[in-house]
Amino acid sequence: MSFADIIGQKEAKKLLKNAVKSGNHSHAYIFSGEKGSGKMMLAEAFATMLQCENPHEDACLECHSCKQSISRNNPDIIYVNRESGKANIGVDVVREQIVNDVSIKPYSNKYKIYIVDEAESMNQQAQNALLKTIEEPPEYAIIILLTANHNSFLQTILSRCVLIQMKPVDTESIKTILKTKCETVDYQANMVASFAQGNVGKAIALASDTSFNEVKNKIVSICKRASKMEELQISTEVNEIKEIRKAEDDADKKDDSPERFEGFINQMLDLITLWFKDVLLYKATLNDEYILFKEDSFDIHEQADRCSYYGLNQIIEAVNEARARLNANVNFELTIMLLINAIKENTR
Ligand SMILES: [Zn+2]
Repeated sequence: MSFADIIGQKEAKKLLKNAVKSGNHSHAYIFSGEKGSGKMMLAEAFATMLQCENPHEDACLECHSCKQSISRNNPDIIYVNRESGKANIGVDVVREQIVNDVSIKPYSNKYKIYIVDEAESMNQQAQNALLKTIEEPPEYAIIILLTANHNSFLQTILSRCVLIQMKPVDTESIKTILKTKCETVDYQANMVASFAQGNVGKAIALASDTSFNEVKNKIVSICKRASKMEELQISTEVNEIKEIRKAEDDADKKDDSPERFEGFINQMLDLITLWFKDVLLYKATLNDEYILFKEDSFDIHEQADRCSYYGLNQIIEAVNEARARLNANVNFELTIMLLINAIKENTR
């Protein structure tokens, strides 16, 4: 992994490269950003360049050290992870893998670099144990904490680390990555790139996620036909959506967390919002250029013709209401039925 492999994150890359070039680096960093935002890639690019035998503007990727770093076999880049099945990174893990290990000099490189993934899951004891190392690190030690939420760190940790916040990547760059690296077709790339809202990892995951496609097609079909759907049919389709999710859960037993369910619901509601935003956009501009659901432009035109601005805004409001209801744990079927009824009312 080198900085050249990372799209976006211009400022962070500049800051980290300069730190390597000038030798004026900090001993502790926090890379903060949501899942999929590229924290690990950035940490690995930084670590690879730090350990490189001939770094210039980036790691050389040719030297012995770079080769070890790329294959994740560099003995002086240590990955600290939550033990499987445990909710926290406990004090034992921090002591064993960092605090007691850091006094041993690097094996064959300039630095000894610790990359702690999901560092927000360090409990208070673990953070306190780490604090001593961050306060008085050996010259060669660099600790990089990766987190989705840097506010979960103790103030004492925060104040001693350089905080780097991951930035959303522009949609055009994400589209390019999807088309060139993931061979995603044009239409799909547009859709997924907009949907991922600047998160490259999320975009790549969605592009290859068949259940996302299935849910998307189902939602689009409901958005198109809601005005003609009978009560019974609506309820059947809601059940079908639930089945898609259930099949996905069965295929992936290890992650049936509430966060995952929430993610699924948000995905679904986001799709409905995007569809009606397309209808609004077309209604206002009579132009297809910026609409996402280009494949369905015929239906978008037809709905834009039939629906009022008021009605379309009512639908977008109804989606927000559904989100709030689901967050308040109101029954899934009931909430979705109410939402589809609102779509039905406002699209006839
Ligand atoms: Zn190198």
